[in-house]
Amino acid sequence: MTESKEMVRVEKLNKSFGDLHVLYDIDLEVKESDVVVLIGASGSGKSTLLRCLNFLEIKDDGKIIIEGEQVEADTHDLNKVRQNVGMVFQHFNLFPHKTVLGNVIEAPMQVKGISKKEAVKEGKRLLDKVGLGDKYNVYPSRLSGGQKQRVAIARALAMQPDIMLFDEPTSALDPELVGEVLETMKELGNEGMTMVVVTHEMGFAREVGDWVIYMDEGKIIEVGPPDQIFDHPKEERTKAFLDSVF
Ligand code: ADP
Ligand code: MG
Repeated sequence: MTESKEMVRVEKLNKSFGDLHVLYDIDLEVKESDVVVLIGASGSGKSTLLRCLNFLEIKDDGKIIIEGEQVEADTHDLNKVRQNVGMVFQHFNLFPHKTVLGNVIEAPMQVKGISKKEAVKEGKRLLDKVGLGDKYNVYPSRLSGGQKQRVAIARALAMQPDIMLFDEPTSALDPELVGEVLETMKELGNEGMTMVVVTHEMGFAREVGDWVIYMDEGKIIEVGPPDQIFDHPKEERTKAFLDSVF
């Protein structure tokens, strides 16, 4: 067996906003095709950690190594890094004046310089994949929240990232629309996409996660496979958190 490739490594990452220290000495390793699920109470630093991984927030210190290369904000083209580390947010932020397909082809054409013909071909393939093959020419206002989020996923995939970050992608959705988005994410994980997912959907964490990380007050408290975290947590704080959500 060959060791699987290391996609993301974080060493002693610290981040503050002014006087507020929100991430403390975070260490993290994500291997190729891993689905890593981050759980924890609101305010524990999950979003900040994800945002540091694609440089929407800039760490104060520590190392972020993406596919073997240590990335620093002052020496690297962060737009390039963000192309490779895609992100899906709670609020989808689609362009309202572009069709579904228009939303998906915009960045590949503008940022990557891909021809319209190629971008359309790939965009249609991705929309088919997320189950929106009949919505190419529809405007976002005509879509449900679950459909919008699946467009947002297709749009992120159109940049051909090696790593996908999801920050509570189903938290803004009506309950009946959560499943279709989780299903799309599960398929992506099954196809081997490397993913880091912040979610409160513990069923998804258990079923799809390879690793679950519990964070509290800016620190990683416990890391393990889902069965261990959910059935045999080692740390009292993990137990208390899980008792509070189940
Ligand atoms: P989570 O995603 O786990 O809810 P966040 O990473 O969003 O947590 O927030 C962690 C802490 O950092 C919170 O106390 C939050 O208020 C604070 N915070 C997040 N973003 C900012 C910001 N841009 N400026 C100041 N404080 C922030
Ligand atoms: Mg958050």
